[in-house]
Amino acid sequence: MSATVHGFQTEVTKLLNLLAHSLYSNKEVFLRELISNASDAIDKLHFLSLTNPDLIKDDPQFKIRVRADKDTNTLTIQDNGLGMTLAEANANLGTIAKSGTEEFVKNLSGDQAKDSQLIGQFGVGFYSSFIVADQVTVISRSATASAEEGVRWSSTGNGTFESENTTVAERGTKIILHIKDDCKDFLDTWTLRQAINKYSDHISTPVELYDVVYEEDEKAEGQEEGKESEPKQTHKFVQVNNAQALWTRNPKDVSDEDYKSFYKHSFNDYVDPLTWTHNKVEGEFEYTSLLYIPSMAPMNLMMRDHNNSIKLYVQRVFIMDESEQFIPAYLRFVRGLVDTNALPLNVSRELLQESKVTRKLKSAITKRALNMIEKLSADKDQYAKFVASFNDVLKEGISDDRDNQEKILKLVRFASTHDTNIVCNVSLDDYISRMSEKQKNIYYLCADDYDKAVNSPNLERLKAKGIEVLLLWKQPIDSWICSYLNEYQGKKFISANAADLDLGDLEDEQDKAKREQTQKEHEDLIKRFKEALGSEVEDVKVADGLSESPACLVQSAANSGFSQQMRFIAKMQGTELPAEKFILELNPAHALVKQAYAEPNESLFKDWANLIFMQATLSDQGTLKNPREFVTLMNRMLLKSGAAPETEPTHQGDSSLEA
Ligand code: ADP
Ligand code: MG
Repeated sequence: MSATVHGFQTEVTKLLNLLAHSLYSNKEVFLRELISNASDAIDKLHFLSLTNPDLIKDDPQFKIRVRADKDTNTLTIQDNGLGMTLAEANANLGTIAKSGTEEFVKNLSGDQAKDSQLIGQFGVGFYSSFIVADQVTVISRSATASAEEGVRWSSTGNGTFESENTTVAERGTKIILHIKDDCKDFLDTWTLRQAINKYSDHISTPVELYDVVYEEDEKAEGQEEGKESEPKQTHKFVQVNNAQALWTRNPKDVSDEDYKSFYKHSFNDYVDPLTWTHNKVEGEFEYTSLLYIPSMAPMNLMMRDHNNSIKLYVQRVFIMDESEQFIPAYLRFVRGLVDTNALPLNVSRELLQESKVTRKLKSAITKRALNMIEKLSADKDQYAKFVASFNDVLKEGISDDRDNQEKILKLVRFASTHDTNIVCNVSLDDYISRMSEKQKNIYYLCADDYDKAVNSPNLERLKAKGIEVLLLWKQPIDSWICSYLNEYQGKKFISANAADLDLGDLEDEQDKAKREQTQKEHEDLIKRFKEALGSEVEDVKVADGLSESPACLVQSAANSGFSQQMRFIAKMQGTELPAEKFILELNPAHALVKQAYAEPNESLFKDWANLIFMQATLSDQGTLKNPREFVTLMNRMLLKSGAAPETEPTHQGDSSLEA
């Protein structure tokens, strides 16, 4: 059978051009990529052999071999992994498979200088062979196929490749690179050894390099003392890498660089992780966990079902990716692996779901992850990066994980009135450390966005008492968690939006007496407002502590039985709840309220009352049921007050509003 010529997928041709012609700074990455593919193929076969040991019985020692031949200018990377059938080779080596390579292509800018830097960051896969080779030949045989079903694939990287069936004696894949003239140093074992050490030390399969070995001859009999025999020079495959899965090593013996490169290789990231934690637990229930926090959030982080973070190994054998069973959704940004001997090798996803071991592991990993985050929080700059990416996801834990709620509350960050910027950088511990002795509670205010929160009239009374208020404005998450905020460090959470705001000891007897007296003093004012507004409001009161605003809205505990948060959630879910009613709190010292009260004509007073009520609604809710009604009322009053020019204006409406 003669070889068939195929065209590469368009993206591949583009990638090949780039790889072949403009990337000179990081040539050696091709070796990392080919060894990593070999190791993947071995992992896959290792896994299949668990249920089908026959697949590897003729050659049970997994290995990757690298051999340079200066006579033919070739470098060969061989593995005894899963191999490929002809159809697989055509598909996998003719199109951009996935993961690393695809990400790389997406990030290409067309600017060659910039793009060539990318290559060191991304895995660029099989095609990186063409950085150093002008011809690549792949000889492969699938572990499930016969010798006659072997494959020969080859390409010079110029838009097409050839492939055909051929007889291949051994299972696995051999990549033969014909090295370009200016890349000949990759035929030197010294260079190869350096590159293998640099990139492949964490690969758990032995990587062997064909190299010169000096062997001493057995001492010949009767040989004189002190006279050395010449060492004999031979060539052999010698193991170069550590070949011990990184997580099985003692953490003391693993360098930061090792951890970082392992992370990037295993989780297809191209930037270093923020931090990691590596733990081995011995005894009856043995497991090792290695967990990382990435530097950046993936695009789909906010989707709760996007939880693909943890790889499962059983006794160092890779079992599955994306085992969401081991980490709660609110920690879905954590990447890592768990290796245990407490599960059977043939464990399935279904089995995992029901297993007690899974639950134990999940709880242990959750604790480790939270501890890792806590440790990170000691480093302000690093933690700011963490908060920017993951704070909102972590907050989900406040409602999801009641067992760890206290710890999670310690780790999440809020905006607050202490800072005048929007950044969420206040911890509850910071907040408590600033509390005056008399303050017993933690005050927070929940609003639709930051501006509404920071400008809420409900803050004024607390501000007047010097009380810091946490501003919860990230929606929808903050509305959701509000209903779960009960206590932290024995201190109650109190909503600043609540009527009869409990100021505890901050309010003394005198304050209370004064408050009651104020209500009495303004009985008539309250009565007139109640009559004017009728069923629009639940009640009218005189506020204490309001300084700048004429009025504000507060919620009573009995407000139709629904909290603002519950309403928000109901709205998100498309459920209509009965209209909500608020208590209007008036600031009798405000000029506008005074002016209203001075109006003897009840019908004109009603306009005033409505205006003040609508204003308060607007600053609390950000919207009005009927904005048109508000504008009409406002214009009518402006004209009456003489704020508008005497002569007929050409434009009424908006321009008169601005006057
Ligand atoms: P990726 O490794 O990100 O999938 P690559 O370009 O490195 O992308 O490899 C493409 C695909 O080719 C692999 O997914 C795999 O299916 C196949 N492949 C590459 N090298 C080997 C190998 N040594 N043995 C078996 N299959 C391989
Ligand atoms: Mg690859």
